[in-house]
Amino acid sequence: MSKLDENIAKAESYLARFKAEGVLNHIAGETVPAADGSTFEIISPVDLQPMASVARGKAEDVDRAAKAAKAAFAEWAAMPGDARKKLLHKIADAIVARAEEIAFVECMDTGQALKFMSKAALRGAENFRFFADRAPEARDGKVLRTSDQTNMTTRVPIGPVGVITPWNTPFMLSTWKIAPALAAGCTVVHKPAEFSPLTARLLVEIAEGAGLPKGVWNLVNGLGEEAGKALTEHPDIKAIGFVGESRTGSMIMRQGAETLKRVHFELGGKNPVVVFADADLDRAADAAVFMIYSLNGERCTSSSRLLVEESIYEAFTAKVAEKAKRIKVGHPLDPETVVGPLIHPVHERKVLDYIDIGRGEGATVAAGGAKFDGPGGGCYVSPTLFTGANNQMRIAQEEIFGPVLTAIPFRDEAEALALANDVQYGLTGYVWTSDVTRAFRFSDRLEAGMIWVNSENVRHLPTPFGGVKNSGIGRDGGDWSFDFYMETKNIAFATGVHAIPKLGG
Ligand code: NAD
Repeated sequence: MSKLDENIAKAESYLARFKAEGVLNHIAGETVPAADGSTFEIISPVDLQPMASVARGKAEDVDRAAKAAKAAFAEWAAMPGDARKKLLHKIADAIVARAEEIAFVECMDTGQALKFMSKAALRGAENFRFFADRAPEARDGKVLRTSDQTNMTTRVPIGPVGVITPWNTPFMLSTWKIAPALAAGCTVVHKPAEFSPLTARLLVEIAEGAGLPKGVWNLVNGLGEEAGKALTEHPDIKAIGFVGESRTGSMIMRQGAETLKRVHFELGGKNPVVVFADADLDRAADAAVFMIYSLNGERCTSSSRLLVEESIYEAFTAKVAEKAKRIKVGHPLDPETVVGPLIHPVHERKVLDYIDIGRGEGATVAAGGAKFDGPGGGCYVSPTLFTGANNQMRIAQEEIFGPVLTAIPFRDEAEALALANDVQYGLTGYVWTSDVTRAFRFSDRLEAGMIWVNSENVRHLPTPFGGVKNSGIGRDGGDWSFDFYMETKNIAFATGVHAIPKLGG
């Protein structure tokens, strides 16, 4: 039996329960169907066959979940930080214990390659451990003195929160948003993406199995415009942590306006990787290729615009094209696969349409440029490189969210900066140069929330994560996550006898 066949057999055994039971909601510690009994089907990105029917939660389900989160809040918020820390570490241990199941289910649900997803559980567990360790100090504040008052700031959890996640790497992103919420003392209602809801289901059952009290973490599956919308409008939900498209962020802001929701948005990107002629070009090429073709290019931080100094443009893009052509596209559970099938035929269509648009705009296909006939006949698209592009083209301006890279030449640093900043997005930027002064000057002026110099995207949990412009509002990571999930409160104590104005005699 080949390794792939062995993996497929294992994946089938992990997926069998979803085929049999469907994917249910989880509210107040109970596994339940949608209140009105309705469901929707999910299909495999590998062979487009049905994988499971999923509870189609609506406003009534969200209301039950929000009430459960509200009921559980006082006790959870009052739990001492040390106890919360222990419990969150237990959840991390339980995630690691089911690492293989999580990886295989995630691969089959999303089409992401095992090469990258094999670490999904470990990264998810690390998110829990990182915030667990900070739970005991989450409430700490500052002391600020005046001559006759001492001000004490403290933080308190904001209340029940909603977490809405996208389909691209759902397990990692769910842990990234939910772990700090729990560590802060908030209770949660999670609405995962309708294309890939399976690992969210595993997560909540792992957490409760590890001892998380009922009602602290609730799961409502459903469509964005139904369950998602209801969650953003619910008066008991105090904040929405959202990861997804920029235009969905706008909708959520509108929907949450009536109840004055606090929002945190991690949105789309059209991130430049800027390569100057003096860079270490081998490393720059490896990084550019990795950052666009890993995770199927379905990655908010992908380096989807390659800006290359004119003098090396031909040679550098030829090198990238060669690498792109050699990338193995295949079954997500094949250990050699780099690019698996895209999540869904709807998304595949969008990516292929962009490839047609690029051709129509006059760019040259230097690699890929078509659907790939992969195992199972699913949503495979060949790693694609466009050369001869300019920054006005739609393939340079719009987020494609697939394995498609658009390469644009620049004359000098000023032009590189102008091109890099001339998009509506500002999530990440990557700069390759051996001139340290230029690296500093350039990154200082680059409009992005996160910039890596002579490096691909290496996530360090204490650092702030988030975007500027249409790429987001707010920051995750380190203490920034707690700032979102908590309210800062100031208490002023008189330490002297200050003059109190006497009104009315
Ligand atoms: P999406 O915006 O379509 O959906 C995200 C989630 O929002 C889903 O759960 C969906 O059901 C829900 N939703 C949709 N409409 C809603 C509404 N009206 N009210 C409430 N919820 C609603 O995004 P997607 O297609 O699932 O994911 C891809 C996008 O996510 C890309 O733009 C990508 O860049 C972005 N993303 C950003 C980051 C980041 O950290 N910045 C990370 C991953 C993905």
